[in-house]
Amino acid sequence: MNPLTNKDSNVQPAAQAETASTPPASASAGAESLFALLLKDDLTSEEKQLIVEQTLAFYEQNLNPGYLEFKKSSDAKAVEWSGSGAWMTDLDGHSFIDCLGGYGVFALGHRPPEVIAAVEKSLTRIGLTGQELLNPFQAALAHRLAEISPGDLAYSYFHGGGAESNEAAFKIARLATGRVKHITMSNSFHGKTMGALAATNRDVIRQPFEPLVPGFIEVPFDDLDALEHAMSEEIASVIVEPVQGEGGINVPSDDFLPGVRALCDRYGALMHLDEVQTGMGRTGKWFGCDHCGVAPDLMTLGKALGGGVMPISAVHGNWRAWERLTENPWYVTNTFGGGAPACAASLATIGILERDRIIEQVPAKGELMLSLLSQIAERHPQHIKEVRGLGLLIGVEFHQRETGVAVAKKLFEHGVLVAHTINNPRVIRIEPPLIIGEEEIHEVASRLAAVMGEVEAGK
Ligand code: PMP
Repeated sequence: MNPLTNKDSNVQPAAQAETASTPPASASAGAESLFALLLKDDLTSEEKQLIVEQTLAFYEQNLNPGYLEFKKSSDAKAVEWSGSGAWMTDLDGHSFIDCLGGYGVFALGHRPPEVIAAVEKSLTRIGLTGQELLNPFQAALAHRLAEISPGDLAYSYFHGGGAESNEAAFKIARLATGRVKHITMSNSFHGKTMGALAATNRDVIRQPFEPLVPGFIEVPFDDLDALEHAMSEEIASVIVEPVQGEGGINVPSDDFLPGVRALCDRYGALMHLDEVQTGMGRTGKWFGCDHCGVAPDLMTLGKALGGGVMPISAVHGNWRAWERLTENPWYVTNTFGGGAPACAASLATIGILERDRIIEQVPAKGELMLSLLSQIAERHPQHIKEVRGLGLLIGVEFHQRETGVAVAKKLFEHGVLVAHTINNPRVIRIEPPLIIGEEEIHEVASRLAAVMGEVEAGK
């Protein structure tokens, strides 16, 4: 997805459906010199210019020219350069308050020094896991997760991204129950690998790849009657996001998750909460399900788990989910999962969140942001339909997708990064680092107010 223009990059460009055209000319030499510049301390303006040019050229020639197409309506030349706290800076020195946060990765902001120090320290001894000897970093993280998670969740395995951990959770649910069907919610997002995509209900990203993994049944989100109707003794698991992130920041009613829990218990299915986006304090509690005191059988985590420094995700489960995995612990393993630096990043992140009481401050920050944005929405009812959210997972829904795109583009010009939610392009997400300060929250709101004024004036 394109954070700069909010253009819906999940839509296939028409040209792509036609016969494949000739690829652009192959890359010229220069990657080595680009790499050397990227590691250089001080850059001249000519060198900066070269970095921008080569980055654009290699995107075109070696990544995907389509990506740049999607950026054309905004500043295509902004190159990510540095970040600190809630702020990011591009190579030209423009600063942005980051309210996109890598889709929720930066709980502690950009480059938290203690997380970096923990990773560096771990790297003085070991890099990726050698697999044969016991891995104490992985053991410590698994134990730490069991300490902070609800109910009887106790066991973990690690991967590199949310989709992978969801795939593992589907397999674990099938193994534990001997069943092969799963219930998923309309508008949900669980990742783009074949199984995770089968659970993701967004036609535009599914359709070119069908048939997907069979056995996934869709029911409307926050509708316990529909769920009850779809439930049977064939269901291995029900996968739910406690608050739908990519679906447009949809907060369910208070009785929804307890109701899902009760139905799973009645039919012997595992309850799988996808907390990839809602976990690690995003909603004002460690996990989204902590708001209603419900514990799932399986929980998946990702994004902020690596403290914005390392890629790491987890599938976390109780004994009921895990027991059959003991027969063959290699059923859900992978090469990179649980490496020392990634686990060190997670352990440091959890420690800082706890020590600095960061999550406890999220509800007040979220309410401040929500109330300031709601005041703006009240002044522009013809454009903004609703502002909603939980903690610092907030969505601004526009009546028209085009207004949302224009607002995101103008916010970029005003130094605020936002993006629409993947499944609902009419909703702009406001998902800043949890460490964002009150002053910065006011700054985001005043920049949005200025942008809405411009939109109103037809500028
Ligand atoms: N689950 C949820 C709830 C998500 O929001 C996302 C990513 N937006 C994923 C899974 C997929 O995670 P990843 O991109 O790391 O595979």
